[in-house]
Amino acid sequence: MQTRTHPLDTSAVGAPHAVTSLHFGASSTPGGRRALLQCSLHADEIPPMLVGWHLRQRLQSLEAAGQLTGEVVLLPACNPIGLAQQVWGRLQGRFDLASGQNFNRHYPALAEGAASRFEAGGGRLGADPQANALALRAALQNELAALPAAGPLQQLRQTLMRLALDADIVLDLHCDNEAVLHVYATPEHEPTALQLTHCLNAPLLLLAAESGDGPFDEAQSGIWPQLRARLGAGVPLAGFAATVELRGETEVDHALAAADAQGLLRFLQQQGFVGELAEAEVEVDTHALPQPDCAVRPLAGCLHVLAPFSGVLVWRLALGQQVQAGQPLADLVCPVSGRCEPLPSPVDGLFFARELQRWARAGQSVAKIAGQEARRSGKLLSA
Ligand SMILES: [Zn+2]
Repeated sequence: MQTRTHPLDTSAVGAPHAVTSLHFGASSTPGGRRALLQCSLHADEIPPMLVGWHLRQRLQSLEAAGQLTGEVVLLPACNPIGLAQQVWGRLQGRFDLASGQNFNRHYPALAEGAASRFEAGGGRLGADPQANALALRAALQNELAALPAAGPLQQLRQTLMRLALDADIVLDLHCDNEAVLHVYATPEHEPTALQLTHCLNAPLLLLAAESGDGPFDEAQSGIWPQLRARLGAGVPLAGFAATVELRGETEVDHALAAADAQGLLRFLQQQGFVGELAEAEVEVDTHALPQPDCAVRPLAGCLHVLAPFSGVLVWRLALGQQVQAGQPLADLVCPVSGRCEPLPSPVDGLFFARELQRWARAGQSVAKIAGQEARRSGKLLSA
């Protein structure tokens, strides 16, 4: 394992932040394929960091046994800015306090600029897809390096993009408030995304070509289809990226994390990064638990349940159930007026995520239902 440090905000007065990346199998596969997994871009989402800790042990063992057939890069806590944001005793890691921006939005679209650079430099696509990918990655890195990155947040985004651009597989590990395990990916990559959900035994895959505001995974996965549209069929679909939501914020548990690490390694094995993979000594075999087949749904069919007034949220149903439109999910109770109303599902679908806090303010999204039909447009990650 090699540990590398990537300082941010090198012009800062005082101690600058730094991103740490752990590299496994790099020396055995120089110039070979790379997979990158990053933990907790939203720094207050803790489960990914524990899954990363389990992955680290397993990857060290696989490396020592000579069973890594590609480089695996692990960013065990990829957002040092967010991790330093303690406000009134609580970690606040979703938004950058200095700018108010979401840490998982506004990643740059590089394809158009990189294609222009490639052409301006006399680049031509040949018959070898790997050579084409290598040449285009150089243009992408040059395009990224030319973007302004004055402050620490911009430097964090640029550092994470730079590390991921050379990877064939990019997994951005998050969690929701309270949720079943689910995956976000783009429609072009549905077969690979289904391999991933199968390895993780995740019951839901949400697909969108563009969900709005440039989340990290789409800034990666959109590159190759866009380059192909611009430069032609010689461009390989060289990068798969997905966001994995590792259940809810409080599901920080060694047994679950070990099982999730095993599922991620199974996927890396199917993608050719791992040779022989021992069946892990996991206490919870998530594949032994009864799970429905993975539901593949459009992100545009994911509808939010909004609280009509402020009150106490009393859930009636557990997560992971198929519900009918109109079926009550919770009661909302106003302690002052005494009003108590059921919150119905807006659509037939899978009840897959809900608010952790049991107090809802008027207008707040408190639950998400994955329906079959696309019904929304615009910014699909917001209510
Ligand atoms: Zn997140």
